[in-house]
Amino acid sequence: MSQRSISDEQLLAYLDEQLPVDQLANIERELRSSESLRLRAANISRHRDQGHHSVGEIWRRNQLSCPSRSQLGNFLLGTLDEDHADYIEFHLQTIGCRYCNANLDDLQKTGDNQPEVTERRRKFFQSSAGYLKPG
Ligand SMILES: [Zn+2]
Repeated sequence: MSQRSISDEQLLAYLDEQLPVDQLANIERELRSSESLRLRAANISRHRDQGHHSVGEIWRRNQLSCPSRSQLGNFLLGTLDEDHADYIEFHLQTIGCRYCNANLDDLQKTGDNQPEVTERRRKFFQSSAGYLKPG
C-alpha cells in the first residue's frame, strides 16, 4: 500500500481502530515512514476530536453505513441489484468492515448449500483473495 492510496477515511478508520488487522499494520508502517502522512493523520485526529468527523458521520454521509443482516444474506444469495451488491462488496472489501465480515462469516456457516449460493461464495472469496494480494 503506497501513501497515496491511503484515504482520509482509511486514516480515520485507522485512528478509530476500525480497520482489519492487516490494513492497520500497513497504515502504521506508512505512518512511520512518512511525515506528511503523519501530519494528515494528526489533522484528521484533531478534527475528529472536535467532533467534526467521526467515522460514523463520514460513513453515513457517504452512505457507507453497515448493511443489515438480511441485506448481507441477499448479497450471499446474489439476489441484490447490481448497485446494492457493489456497495456491500465495497463495504466488506475496501472498507473491510469487521462487523459485517464477521456477520457474513456467520451467515455462510449457517446458510444453506444451494448451488447459486456456493457459486456466489466462491466468487466472493476469489475476489477477496485478489484484493488481499500485496501491490
Ligand atoms: Zn459494516
